[in-house]
Amino acid sequence: MTGRTKYLLDEADLPTRWYNVVADLAEPPPPPLHPGTGEPVGPDDLAPLFPQALIAQEVTADRYVDIPEEVLDVYRLWRPSPLYRARRLEKALGTPARIYYKYEGVSPVGSHKPNTAVPQAFYNAAEGVRRLTTETGAGQWGSALAFASATFGLECEVWQVRASYDQKPYRKIMMETFGAKLHPSPSEETASGRAVLAEHPDSTGSLGIAISEAVEKAAADPDARYALGSVLNHVLLHQTVIGEEALKQFELAEDTPDLIVGCTGGGSNFGGLAFPFLREKLAGRIAPEILAVEPSACPSLTRGKYAYDFGDTAGLTPLLKMHTLGHEFIPDPIHAGGLRYHGMSPLLSHIYELGLIGAVAIPQQECFAAGVRFARSEGIIPAPEPTHALAACVREALRCKETGEEKVILTALCGHAHLDLPAYAAYLSGDMVDNELPDSVLAEALASVPAG
Ligand SMILES: *Cc1c(COP(=O)(O)O)cnc(C)c1O
Repeated sequence: MTGRTKYLLDEADLPTRWYNVVADLAEPPPPPLHPGTGEPVGPDDLAPLFPQALIAQEVTADRYVDIPEEVLDVYRLWRPSPLYRARRLEKALGTPARIYYKYEGVSPVGSHKPNTAVPQAFYNAAEGVRRLTTETGAGQWGSALAFASATFGLECEVWQVRASYDQKPYRKIMMETFGAKLHPSPSEETASGRAVLAEHPDSTGSLGIAISEAVEKAAADPDARYALGSVLNHVLLHQTVIGEEALKQFELAEDTPDLIVGCTGGGSNFGGLAFPFLREKLAGRIAPEILAVEPSACPSLTRGKYAYDFGDTAGLTPLLKMHTLGHEFIPDPIHAGGLRYHGMSPLLSHIYELGLIGAVAIPQQECFAAGVRFARSEGIIPAPEPTHALAACVREALRCKETGEEKVILTALCGHAHLDLPAYAAYLSGDMVDNELPDSVLAEALASVPAG
């Protein structure tokens, strides 16, 4: 098989179950708490927001969850996704390292997000829900949920962070083509949005504010539920199809990764790729290093506090134990919109605390340089988010060039940039800046973490 570029699976090899890493951890992650009582939230607290099937998946200790046939049917539109060996990039870098990437840009909206949008829409429709509300930053998640909602006959209402709503009109058109209704956030539609606008009429918004708006709207409508595109356990669970496929593809390649690297916004594409490999590592069969990469402008794992905090700005969600920069933190408007969330998945945060993964923060110009280098050798223009993972790959590949190490690197190329090209324009024109987060700004943001 030498010289091979793509490792492809047949539709018959599509995984039939999702993997729940909680079953293999020495201790489970700390539970979400009710902000009023300080007690763990129960199913009744979550029922206004999520269907029963997803609440059950959120807390399950079962190692595997079967993927419904209706979901597999939709997955087959683009799955299994390809695993590539980046031979041309290796050559361009002059590295002895072997670099592989699992490409999720083949999905209908160009990212990994439909892997969870589809089952979320399916379970809601199966329980008689008529309407889904959600937030979106760059628009990847909103497009995925709009597509999935159309597939199962649900209405979809999306609050899009104002900065992206203004800068990225094509995502809006995509969501509307799938039938979704869009609001810029902060909006006049909700009390949370109006409160922000009263104080900051020119607010460019944040994911935290948009979540408050979508949650508020769903909670007030018995026919509606809320859908989250990252962070929660059931989202990371659904994304494990990525890693399960990649394991089979590495068998075809007769190779084994030494380093697995992914970008982390809320942690779902990274967890989805890494968790099945972590299962194999915990069983002693392989020993890869697993590395999360975040932007220097929003470094929740590397500089955040591991504490109970709200998932949204207004404080409407349960308290989640996670690495957080404070729920009032509004990151600089960097181009990787999907990495601008103040917190990290509680499950991934817990796994980080257990010492099972590492993390590094990289400034955006180095990331776009890696993205351009990748595009010029592999032909795919990466979404701004996975350029962070590629920057870490390039660092490691160049280190291998010095040492002569034939390290095997696997990365999640979780989306393409076809609707984010203005970010590349900013980089190519030399207008891009690195938004390092000053200690003083961080300290002020961390003050919004509730005292525990
Ligand atoms: C949403 C998104 C991210 C960030 O979310 P994760 O849950 O950390 O994966 C990263 N990349 C792309 C392309 C996205 O759409």
